[in-house]
Amino acid sequence: MENTDIMAANFEIPSDVLDEIQNNIQNIIESFDIPDANKMDVIKKINFMYTQTKHMSVTDPLTKLYNRRHFETEFEKEFKRAKRYNSPLSVAIVDIDFFKKINDTYGHSCGDYVLKEIAFLMMQNFRQTDTIFRYGGEEFVVILTETPELTASIPMERLRKNIENNSFKYNGNDIKVTISIGISSKTDCNNQIEMFDYADKALYNAKNEGRNRVRQ
Ligand code: GH3
Ligand code: MG
Ligand code: MG
Repeated sequence: MENTDIMAANFEIPSDVLDEIQNNIQNIIESFDIPDANKMDVIKKINFMYTQTKHMSVTDPLTKLYNRRHFETEFEKEFKRAKRYNSPLSVAIVDIDFFKKINDTYGHSCGDYVLKEIAFLMMQNFRQTDTIFRYGGEEFVVILTETPELTASIPMERLRKNIENNSFKYNGNDIKVTISIGISSKTDCNNQIEMFDYADKALYNAKNEGRNRVRQ
C-alpha cells in the first residue's frame, strides 16, 4: 500500500525518545533484584509494553487510524509550523451522511463495518504527507500539509466520489453511503481551534445544502 506511514499501525517513536525510555527502564531494572541473565529479557518486555501502550494512546481500535487526542497534538503543531514558515495548510472534516440510519436499518455491526471500510478507502486516497484521524463516532479529519485552499478540494472531492461509487456489501445487502466534507485553509486565524471551526461551519453548510458535497 502506498500510504503506509499515515496508518497508525506504523506509528513510530522517535529514536531519541526511545533512548530516554530505555535509560529510564534500565534505572528501574537496576533498582530491582533481577538475576543478570534475565535482565535483557525484562528490559525487552518492558520496552515492548511501553511501545504498545504509547501506540494505543494515539490509535482508534476500530479503524486503526490515529485518534482525536493525536489529532489535537498534530494539528496544533502543523498550525504553528504553517504560521511560522508562512506555508499553506488545510484541514478537512469528513462526516458520514445519515449514518444513524445505517445502524438502525442494518445493525450496529454493519455501522462498524462501514466505518472500517471508509477508513480503508481514506488511507488509499491521500498523499503520504497527509494524515487521517478518526475524530469521533462517524467523523474523520484529514490534515493536508502544504496544501492551499485552491487545491485542498481536489483530494476531498475524489474521496467523496470514491465513497459515493463504492458498494458497501454487508450480509448480502448493497449499501450506499455518502459523506459531507468541510474544509478550512484559514491559517490567518489566531489559533488552530479557530481554523478548525471554519471547517466545521463549512461542513454544516455542506449538510444544509443537501449532503454528499464538499464545502470550503
Ligand atoms: P448527518 O447526515 O446529519 O450527519 O446524520 P447522522 O445520522 O450521520 O448523524 P447523527 O449525529 O445523528 O448520528 C451519528 C450516529 O453515529 C449515531 C451513533 O449511534 C453512531 N455511531 C457513533 N459511533 C459509532 C460506532 O463506533 N459504531 C457504530 N456502528 N455507530 C456509531
Ligand atoms: Mg457527525
Ligand atoms: Mg453524520
